[in-house]
Amino acid sequence: MNTSDTKKMDVTNIDRRCFLALSAGAVISLAAGKLPGIAQAASPHALPPLPYADSALEPVITSRTISFHYAKHHMGYVNKLNALIDGTLFADMSLEKIIAGTAMQPENTAIFNNAAQVWNHTFYWKSMKPGGGGEPPAALKQKMRDDFGSVAACKKALLTAATAQFGSGWAWLVLDGGTLKTVKTPNAGTPLTSGMTPLLTIDVWEHAYYLDYQNRRADYVTAVLDGLINWEFALENAGL
Ligand code: FE
Repeated sequence: MNTSDTKKMDVTNIDRRCFLALSAGAVISLAAGKLPGIAQAASPHALPPLPYADSALEPVITSRTISFHYAKHHMGYVNKLNALIDGTLFADMSLEKIIAGTAMQPENTAIFNNAAQVWNHTFYWKSMKPGGGGEPPAALKQKMRDDFGSVAACKKALLTAATAQFGSGWAWLVLDGGTLKTVKTPNAGTPLTSGMTPLLTIDVWEHAYYLDYQNRRADYVTAVLDGLINWEFALENAGL
């Protein structure tokens, strides 16, 4: 057996184990490439354009934070991912397939972390918009009332998820089996690998807010929820 065959066999085994590890919903979503809000990226993977100017989210998030976050951090994950998959069978896979194929596989942690961070950041940029916040669209508002009791309770749950995440990670609004929920994931974690449908996310790594808010994570999250969060993007992803 040559090296290429060995690699192929390893990946097949990874895919089989991953398939068993993931819930049915995640497998179906990932296999079909039907992920909310993001087109499948070409390989090698490119840094998707920011959906607005660096300064468009001021004063909630400054252009200094956005420019470092996008051009250094997000770009860095893209570059590391491309270097890590070069010459492997992951090289020709979509971002979503790489995430599915490396989740919970200790031997592929670096590839998973960088692929998921590329995906999470692209999703994060779309989860905000200039002039966001305010009242959610009617269908989303009704769903929040059904599953949380009120819009305010849903926002509070998002804030709690964001502040309860110990260390780096993400707060998410998701659909889980048709129910609206908030979840938190550490580091590069994503609800995609748990069979949930992400609707929006807030980056709670310190690089997302430290220049503007220092240690005041709750102030950053509250300001994003009140002034930037893109409820229309969440509704679009929910398909309500
Ligand atoms: Fe980040």
